[in-house]
Amino acid sequence: MSTPIPANTALIEERSRKFGAAEEGGIVRCDACPVLCRIRPGRAGACSRYANQDGLLVRVDPVVLLDRAVEEGLPLVPFARGEWDGRLLEPGRTFVTGVGAGTTYPDYKPAPLIVSAEHNGVDTVTVVTEGIFSYCGVKVKIDTDRHLGPETAAVRVGGEQVGHVTTAEYGSQMLSLGGVRHLTGGSKKEGNVTCETLLKLCGGGPVEMSIEGGHTVLVQAGRTPVVDGRPEERMRVGCGSATIGIFAKQWLGHVDEVIVVDDHITGVLTEHQAGRVLGMRPAGIRVRGRKSTPGRYFQVANPGLGWGGTDITDPLAIIQKIDEGAAWPGMRLLLTSTTGEDALYCVLDEALRPVPTDMPPEVALVVARIGENCEPSLCTVLFMAGAGGSLRAGVTENPILLTRSVASGETRVTMGGAPVYHWPGGGITVMVDVLRLPKNAFGYVPTPAIVAPMEFTLPTALYERLGGHAGEIVSIGDVLRNVAPDARIEDWGATNPWPFGKGL
Ligand code: SF4
Repeated sequence: MSTPIPANTALIEERSRKFGAAEEGGIVRCDACPVLCRIRPGRAGACSRYANQDGLLVRVDPVVLLDRAVEEGLPLVPFARGEWDGRLLEPGRTFVTGVGAGTTYPDYKPAPLIVSAEHNGVDTVTVVTEGIFSYCGVKVKIDTDRHLGPETAAVRVGGEQVGHVTTAEYGSQMLSLGGVRHLTGGSKKEGNVTCETLLKLCGGGPVEMSIEGGHTVLVQAGRTPVVDGRPEERMRVGCGSATIGIFAKQWLGHVDEVIVVDDHITGVLTEHQAGRVLGMRPAGIRVRGRKSTPGRYFQVANPGLGWGGTDITDPLAIIQKIDEGAAWPGMRLLLTSTTGEDALYCVLDEALRPVPTDMPPEVALVVARIGENCEPSLCTVLFMAGAGGSLRAGVTENPILLTRSVASGETRVTMGGAPVYHWPGGGITVMVDVLRLPKNAFGYVPTPAIVAPMEFTLPTALYERLGGHAGEIVSIGDVLRNVAPDARIEDWGATNPWPFGKGL
C-alpha cells in the first residue's frame, strides 16, 4: 500500500515512539500482532491497519469518538472537521471507542487509551482498546421457516467450510460461523476464507453461502435473506399449532376445518384444544405424520422450500384419510401455511373429495391477517468473542480481578459503545449485535483473527483497586484536545445505553 496515509492521533504517535521499533532505512517493525510486519516508510502493514509515517508507526484508521446528543430542546453542537478548536465537543457527552485505537499486543502493554472523565459526580475510567480475537465467530439468525439444510450440516463459502447449521429457533434458522477451529484448525485457505466471511458479515456486508445437503443463502445483517435466489418476505406468525390458537375464533363459523401446514408442528383446528373449546364439530380429516397431542402433528412431510418449511407443494398431499363417519359433503376446508403466503380453500364433494374453490372473503381476511402478523424476514448477525485472555493485561496487571469485576457487573463492557451480552461463567465471553457498532468497526490480522473494539468502563477508585495502569490515565479533555482533530466523530447510537449511566 502506498501513501497518502491518514495521520492518526498525537497520542498514538506518542505510543508508537514507545513501541514501534525503528530499523535501518526507516523501516518500522509493527508489533501490534504476532505477524510482526516490517513496514517501509510510506507503506502499510499486511492488515492495512498500521503504517509507517515518517518513521513512526501509526494506526491508519482514525479513532472513533461518539457524541451523545444533549437533552431534548437543546441544539446539537456542530462539528466541522478541520476547524475544530478543541472546545466544541463536550467531555461529558463524548465516548471514546476502541475503533481505530490500536491493540495491546504483546499484551503487557497498557491499553492504547485509558480515559478519565467525571459523570454524575463519579470519577470514571474507560479503558479503550482493540482486541485481536482468534476465538471468535458469529451467530446468524435467519428469519424463515424454509429448510436451509440439515442441523450440523457444513456451511461453505467459496467451497471452504466456515461453520455449520445449528439448532433452529422459533421461526428462524440458525448458523454458527467462524470459531477457532475454522480460523486456525484447518487449511490456510479455510482460515482465510473464514476470517474474510466474518469480517464481511460484521461489517454489514453480504455473503453468499451454501449449505451441504441444503440450499444457498445470501446473508447480510439487517437485510432480507435470499434463499436460492428468492428473497424471503415473511417470518412465520408461529408454528402450525400456535397459528391455530391465534386465529381459531376468527375462523369459527366461516370454515369447518383448518390445517396449518408446518414442518415442525402442523395444526388441525377441530382436533386442537382451541377448536374443542370453541365447540367445533370433529371434521374427520387425518393428516400424515406423527400425532403429538390432539390437533398437533410432527413430521407431516420432509423439510424443504415448500409450504411451511416442508417439501409440500400440493397441500392436499398432507391428508392421509378422510373419515366417512365424521366428514360430510359440503364441508369447508382451509389449508394454509404459517405465513399465509400459501393457502387453499376447498369444499368436500359428495364423495368427500376436497375440491378447490374460490376462497370466501371472510376466510381470505383471516389468511391476510396471518400475513399481517408476520414480521419482515431479516438476518441478524451477532459477533461473539472471548476477551478472557491476554487482552486483560492491557487493562490491569492482575487480570483475574478484571474478570471478576466484569462478572459482578461493576465494570461495564461495550464494543464500539454498543452494549454486549456477557456470558455467565468463566472468562469474558461476549456477544454483540454488529449493527449497533459504528461503521467499519471491525478489522483483521492475517494470523488470521478478527480485530474488534472493546471498552471497559468503571469507577476510577475501582480501577485502582483492580491494579489498573493508573499511570497511563489521560483525561477526556486531553484526549479531545489531542485526538479529536483527526478522529471520526459519530453520533451516539440512540438505542445504545450510555455507559456512564446510573449504577456505575
Ligand atoms: S498485520 Fe497489521 S497489526 Fe499485524 S504486524 Fe502487520 S501491520 Fe501490525
